[in-house]
Amino acid sequence: MGSYTISVIHGDGIGPEVCAEGVRLLEALGQRYGHSFSFTEYLAGGAAIDATGDPLPQATIDGVKASDALLFGAIGGPKWENLPQDKKPEAGLLRLRKELGAFANLRPAIVFDELVDASTLKPEVVRGTDIMVVRELTGGLYFGTPRGVEGSGASRKGFNTMVYEASEIERIARVGFETAMLRSKKLCSVDKANVLDVSQLWRDVVIEVSKDYPEVTLSHMYVDNCAMQLIRDPKQFDVIVTGNIFGDILSDEASQLTGSIGMLASASVGGPVGFFEPIHGSAPDIAGQGKANPLAMIGSVEMALRYGLKLETEADAVAAAVKKTLADGLRTGDIMQPGCTQLDTQAMGAAVIERLG
Ligand code: NAD
Repeated sequence: MGSYTISVIHGDGIGPEVCAEGVRLLEALGQRYGHSFSFTEYLAGGAAIDATGDPLPQATIDGVKASDALLFGAIGGPKWENLPQDKKPEAGLLRLRKELGAFANLRPAIVFDELVDASTLKPEVVRGTDIMVVRELTGGLYFGTPRGVEGSGASRKGFNTMVYEASEIERIARVGFETAMLRSKKLCSVDKANVLDVSQLWRDVVIEVSKDYPEVTLSHMYVDNCAMQLIRDPKQFDVIVTGNIFGDILSDEASQLTGSIGMLASASVGGPVGFFEPIHGSAPDIAGQGKANPLAMIGSVEMALRYGLKLETEADAVAAAVKKTLADGLRTGDIMQPGCTQLDTQAMGAAVIERLG
């Protein structure tokens, strides 16, 4: 039995609708398992711009840092699109990730049997897929210097630097191994060590770290092969650990195996406070209509329990309840299938809570 302080950032569009279901789920889990979850709401994104003129007010940073986990809805929308880059809602989100030092992004791609037809790939290829991509989030090509565009005319030169320090590789490798220990103890490290020096260092360091995890079976794969294998035979993977740019591309590819953005959760961990959010945006086209699928947020709550608060039993209960909800033929509009029952956001959230067991 524990006592946990949860920061909640509703954000914009469907953010408040899906966050409400995440909070209700945690409250229900608190009652069932004897935990006390207290929630504090903070502003970010368009809502924060409207209220304070800043997409990430200092009070939000301070409040979130003092909490045990952050549940984040989604931010952005047409109303704020024409603001200068650093005043846009998205600027607030990027700053918050940096402030929290969340260097490890965990993105699961799970194909539920009940939704196997939602994928663009053949059912026999994707059925049973359950992959976790662990992506390094604060280093590599996206942050390395020097970077820029120089010169003029035909000799203009654009450049970025792909750089990792051994310590950065070691800490993300450890997240990969720890994640593998919580799952089937298989880890695939993805790099481009046949061409890139930085990738050779990546591979060397991952091998060094593997000595601390003798139970985990480690394999290595070049990124181009991994991109191919993910659509050829996704079930060969369990946990993938990789650098920033490779992880960006591969996690999007893996997520699309599942077919629906309304189902996909994520966690960014490694700093003092874990950051748990659906991968979808604020979906202005369906906001306020009860059409949003809350399962991506519910999956994010599961990740907060498992990877943030280390409450594995409770996380397993959420995963099982989601599976049962789908098996019972309950769907939101985005994943609706013939013969199933269509529910709105709240009813879908309630259906999961009813099936917590
Ligand atoms: P989006 O993810 O908001 O929507 C894409 C499509 O998926 C839309 O048709 C939407 O209705 C649908 N969709 C998304 N989530 C859904 C859900 N839970 N249930 C059912 N359908 C769902 O992407 P977009 O339209 O490109 O972006 C809209 C806004 O969100 C933009 O301002 C963008 O910058 C922002 N955005 C924010 C985040 C974030 O907060 N992390 C991420 C991506 C985009």
